[in-house]
Amino acid sequence: MSERLKQIGLPIKTSDFKTKAEIFEAARSGVFPIINLKTGRTGKGEGCTCNCVYCDVGDKDGPYWQETKEENFKTLITNWANQGGKTIHWCGDGEPTTFKWFDTILDLAKKNNFKLEIFSNLTGLTPDRANNLMEIGATVKFKMDSRDPIILGEILTSTNNKDTAFKAGSNLIDKIDMLVQAREKSENKPQLVASIVMSEKNMHDIIKVLDWCCEFNVVPQVAYMEEIGSVTKTGIKALNEREIKIINRWLKIKFGLKDPKQIMGDQCEAKAAPILMGNRVSLGPFGMGCEFPLREHLGELNFIGEYKNDVGELTDTIKEFRFNKQNIQLIVEELVKIKEEKGIYSKTGTDEILPGCGDDIEELWFIEYVATIFTSDEYFKNFINDWVLKGEHRKWTKEEINSLINQVKTLM
Ligand code: SF4
Repeated sequence: MSERLKQIGLPIKTSDFKTKAEIFEAARSGVFPIINLKTGRTGKGEGCTCNCVYCDVGDKDGPYWQETKEENFKTLITNWANQGGKTIHWCGDGEPTTFKWFDTILDLAKKNNFKLEIFSNLTGLTPDRANNLMEIGATVKFKMDSRDPIILGEILTSTNNKDTAFKAGSNLIDKIDMLVQAREKSENKPQLVASIVMSEKNMHDIIKVLDWCCEFNVVPQVAYMEEIGSVTKTGIKALNEREIKIINRWLKIKFGLKDPKQIMGDQCEAKAAPILMGNRVSLGPFGMGCEFPLREHLGELNFIGEYKNDVGELTDTIKEFRFNKQNIQLIVEELVKIKEEKGIYSKTGTDEILPGCGDDIEELWFIEYVATIFTSDEYFKNFINDWVLKGEHRKWTKEEINSLINQVKTLM
């Protein structure tokens, strides 16, 4: 098998730094090439249909879009596409394929030539939708913690009932296979990504899952479950540092990876993107599977404001939020904490296991977000040339954070 894997090679998601730089530049000028949609975790017919053992999405929000009319939604998305919108990057808080306007979005994407990137449990996938997604070149990241239907079902449903688990797990595996087949038939052959969250439940399945990814040219994205969210109730054990180190080492050897980080975590391109929840708006940066770092850094500011249907109004709301004196003050305070290693993620230890991965990514995104929005033109230019275009993605030194703090302070 290892010979065969060597020949096929593990598909790796590659980063396009030039596009990233363009996105940073656009965000700075108040244009949003990327937006994120959320539909609400529990909204009737719009929320997530699963009950994963490790879910860390809250269950009190949503549905977000009940006040909006479909016509207004269409106008908003079309206006956004006309002002340079390129990608709807859809993850977290709600399942895209069961959203009431999912087909509308597929139509709009085709008509207006924008891209769709979704993180999905594929519940609402049908053969037609799978074909449409592949036809518009959508990137689909789907849950696939195991290829064993019972283990997968147990994770998805938080139950130990084998029949229930088998049904849920088989259903998802069938949908995944449907998507892979639709891609086979498509001209574009868009990227498919498998989200693999590892815990004690599925740690022995990783070989089979990665072999399957090799065989079907699906990018694996491995993450290690943390003890937050539902895990605190369901008691599923996260892997310990030793187990993670062993798996990382094994990944390097078996798949010939220079660094297991190549298949870990996220490559977020949606820096500073607005997150639309009906007529409320929140702000990134965020990525597929990543929550609201800005909210976490600035306190529990879940939504930064409201807008009606207009993209211009959205831009104004975001500007007002960004340059509010109180927020600037909070940003400086947060940067000081990060510099002194007292930030919210400093105690997770993921940085030691995989530098630049896990929660530390969120901290890094926060810093990069600040560097994008709250700095002088000269600083920003250097940041793009020395960091973004060179693919630098690492912990910032104290001196670098100090220089950023001085930049932000000039706005106070
Ligand atoms: S982890 Fe994702 S798919 Fe599972 S319950 Fe939470 S939101 Fe739904």
